Amino acid sequence: MSGPSGSGTPGDDDTGPVQDAVRRPTLAVWKFASCDGCQLSLLDCEDELLTLAHAVRIANFTEMSRAKVAGPYDVSLVEGSITTPDDALRIREVRANSRLLVTIGACATAGGIQGLRNFAASGAYAGTVYAHPEYINSLDTSTPIAAHVHVDFELHGCPIDRHQLLEVITATLAGRRPVIPGHSVCQECKGRGTVCLLVSGGTACLGPVTRTGCGALCPAVGRGCFGCFGPADTANTSSLAAQLRRQGMARVDVSRLFRTFNAGAPAFLEESVAQGGSLPVASSVSVRPGPPPETP
Ligand code: SF4
Ligand code: SF4
Repeated sequence: MSGPSGSGTPGDDDTGPVQDAVRRPTLAVWKFASCDGCQLSLLDCEDELLTLAHAVRIANFTEMSRAKVAGPYDVSLVEGSITTPDDALRIREVRANSRLLVTIGACATAGGIQGLRNFAASGAYAGTVYAHPEYINSLDTSTPIAAHVHVDFELHGCPIDRHQLLEVITATLAGRRPVIPGHSVCQECKGRGTVCLLVSGGTACLGPVTRTGCGALCPAVGRGCFGCFGPADTANTSSLAAQLRRQGMARVDVSRLFRTFNAGAPAFLEESVAQGGSLPVASSVSVRPGPPPETP
């Protein structure tokens, strides 16, 4: 039996117990509100997938197979944010059935692009998008998994990087902490010799405050970073915002730059509000107040 979202619930078992000659750790993948892009990053590990399948027993991964093995699970990878009452219950079941729980992607770690709903009154978008919003049973907010249950490790990105994912799985199975860098995309540009778009071209770029993981992909092709890996460990967002303002960017546009895939990540949320963006309508996130409105 599958859960309401079609992604299964812990304890479902379509196949019955299968005994391994040597017990392999079990890996389960769970989907909440998301686009499936991060799960696809796992399937995208083409060269490593067979090795991985020998090292672990993939116990639940609806994107790959309908076969399911009952929990508990050694490692659960969780994609997506919590947006419905059912999600809020199901994530507790996943947690209770998982020895280690790792969240993957901007949706799971920051609420994702669907977290933009947090800045509007309840139902404001549903009434615009759906002909019959009365049939929609969703929460007022899109929140990260860590707002609901204990998370052992968060892997960022929209989508995540598959090499980082393999490092997280490998480290988790080996009982060590994953080695995932927390420095900025900006440093990655310096390392690969990419000319700075912000300084030399005046391009709006979040590279100085965004966590690395993509290899500075966008700046390498002449496009400013829009922050899909979320805030770097020591993100000085106010300094970058001041530089963007000096380059002539309107405050409203600076605020919007911080408000995309990781709008709910605290550092980006605080800066977007500091630049005049609205506060979340229903959120417990505390943000520093912005300056008074700009005079025309
Ligand atoms: S983080 Fe991005 S790629 Fe991953 S599920 Fe969410 S929207 Fe899709
Ligand atoms: S450069 Fe920025 S926007 Fe582009 S992939 Fe990397 S983190 Fe994402």
